[in-house]
Amino acid sequence: MSLTVVGSIAFDAVTTPFGSRERMLGGSAVHFSLASSFFTDVRVVGPVGDDFGPEEHAVLRARGVITDDIEHVPGGETFFWRGHYDYDLNTAHTDETRLNVFGDFSPKLSQDSRECDVLFLANIQPDLQREVREQCEGARFVALDSMNLWIETARDALLRTIETVDCVMLNDAEIRQLTRKPNLVQAARELRALGPRVVVAKQGEYGAALLTDEGFFGLPAFPLETVLDPTGAGDSFAGGFIGFLAAHGTDELDHETLCRAMAYGTAIASFNVEEFGTERVRRLTRDEIAARVSELHRITHFVDAPVSLRA
Ligand code: AMP
Repeated sequence: MSLTVVGSIAFDAVTTPFGSRERMLGGSAVHFSLASSFFTDVRVVGPVGDDFGPEEHAVLRARGVITDDIEHVPGGETFFWRGHYDYDLNTAHTDETRLNVFGDFSPKLSQDSRECDVLFLANIQPDLQREVREQCEGARFVALDSMNLWIETARDALLRTIETVDCVMLNDAEIRQLTRKPNLVQAARELRALGPRVVVAKQGEYGAALLTDEGFFGLPAFPLETVLDPTGAGDSFAGGFIGFLAAHGTDELDHETLCRAMAYGTAIASFNVEEFGTERVRRLTRDEIAARVSELHRITHFVDAPVSLRA
């Protein structure tokens, strides 16, 4: 099934306790599309400036990502994000956000992008997400990500956009912030009451949880000895999760299929954090993904056996 993503295409400056990069390719749509490219054709929608050159295009095209809907704004500069992480790699601290070409972005999708079966609204201003959602009327499965910035500055717009999607993927802290409910199970139920039937709570190094009307499923993050940069982990997770669903068809989206999608999201996100930015996922292979998914299966599976419990 065809997949379209709209989101940020960025240059990131990132410092973690393990190193830094002054300018690397990033952005929610970039991380998402590299991850989902292992499953299906993916089209990226978003604006870039004059500074986004052939080298950046080549990273996406090398993975078969369709870049026709990347809009070049003459004289503009690409979205720029500067952030850092302390030893708690679960929390990104934003030091600078330059919207640049995103300042006046009005999404114009080609016919091919509009006709997608599956749509991912990666993290951008929620009104822009809704504009795109309205252009993709025929999409059979639509998922959305967001961040604390929009919960704080555009909460009502975000809630209106959430009403139009099938799946919400947010960090657990963002879900609590958005619903103003401390309990994740209750908070997810409240989000589902708005319309989406699937809620995914991303929990950083602790993994991710799936909450649907059919039940709950949790997976830990893949245990790694080396984590250099968590930037893009959430989008890589989303790319693996949504890419898997797009490849398997969304007509019979039962709980079991969603659980398997969680494993692919977890596996690809784990590669993303091993190096800075897109460095690791660029050279990732399908055999490596398959091996990590089966290792994840092995370490999360246990055999229950009767034991006599004392009264
Ligand atoms: P995550 O997967 O949550 O780590 O997202 C990381 C990406 O989000 C980075 O590559 C940034 O370029 C991008 N980003 C940061 N702030 C924003 C923002 N306000 N809007 C859109 N994208 C952003």
